[in-house]
Amino acid sequence: MTRAGGVIAGVDIGGTATQVILCTPALEILGRATAPTPRGGDAMIAAAVGMIGRLVSERATELLGVGIGAAGVVDSAAGDVLVASDTFVDWAGYRVTTEVTRRVGVPAFLENDVNAFLTGEIADGAIKVETDALAIMLGTGVGGALWVDGALFSGPHGAAGEIGHMPGFGDALCSCGRHGHLESVAAGRQLEVRYRESGGEQVGAAEIARRAAAGEEAAGQVFRTAGRAVGQAISAVSALVDVTTVVIGGGVSRAWQLLAPAIDGYLADEPPVSGLPIRIEHSTLGKDAVAVGAASRVRAELGL
Ligand SMILES: [Zn+2]
Repeated sequence: MTRAGGVIAGVDIGGTATQVILCTPALEILGRATAPTPRGGDAMIAAAVGMIGRLVSERATELLGVGIGAAGVVDSAAGDVLVASDTFVDWAGYRVTTEVTRRVGVPAFLENDVNAFLTGEIADGAIKVETDALAIMLGTGVGGALWVDGALFSGPHGAAGEIGHMPGFGDALCSCGRHGHLESVAAGRQLEVRYRESGGEQVGAAEIARRAAAGEEAAGQVFRTAGRAVGQAISAVSALVDVTTVVIGGGVSRAWQLLAPAIDGYLADEPPVSGLPIRIEHSTLGKDAVAVGAASRVRAELGL
């Protein structure tokens, strides 16, 4: 088998599921596998490596490298997890790339999941070849990432762009225990809480979106509040670092037709300091974005 015929694995380790894609160095996806994320660092890596092994052997091809996108603060140079949420057991301090390389025998690279999402959307998604962009992931929580002057900007602690816990968004209780953070009005779980507080039933964010689309006022208000908050966050970030482009993904963003008008409405009221419009795009890679971004990091690191 020639090196030119080899493949890259991209892994997205989420709180509930782990997804693996196998792709060519041109990021053409050849296969996918998904499994529930087990508890514990060793089990999480074993699950991912098992899926990679099956996908590679099915295609009788050569694995060139593995890219991993995972939640939390990571040391992307060393490949270690620094800080993990309570969802992940035995994950903070885990030496991810060392363990993956030991098991599969090829180079591995670790990236924060939102950073990987942004890298994927720039490599082969909604905002190809942009040089200055902000990514916002509206999922169970709210994450962010920054691309400045053609490269990921992670900051000295790997926490740059994490806008979910930025204050100034009302006084609702956030998942972190404080009040008024972006996440408290724009994350999936928080949308559900806000809907119940306004007299709605206990239903999921997708159902609230359906009700909003059908014209239910309380459901619509929850998404308008979320969208305006996202617009406010974009306005604040653009005032600081002059981003020209924003890409938005995550489960909550599937209600794009509800969010987009509210985001645009806020930015019409509070236009960017530059006076130029900000390009706002919905993710086109969807559920593949983190894994594709992790794979594109491998491509860049190995010069494929
Ligand atoms: Zn918070």
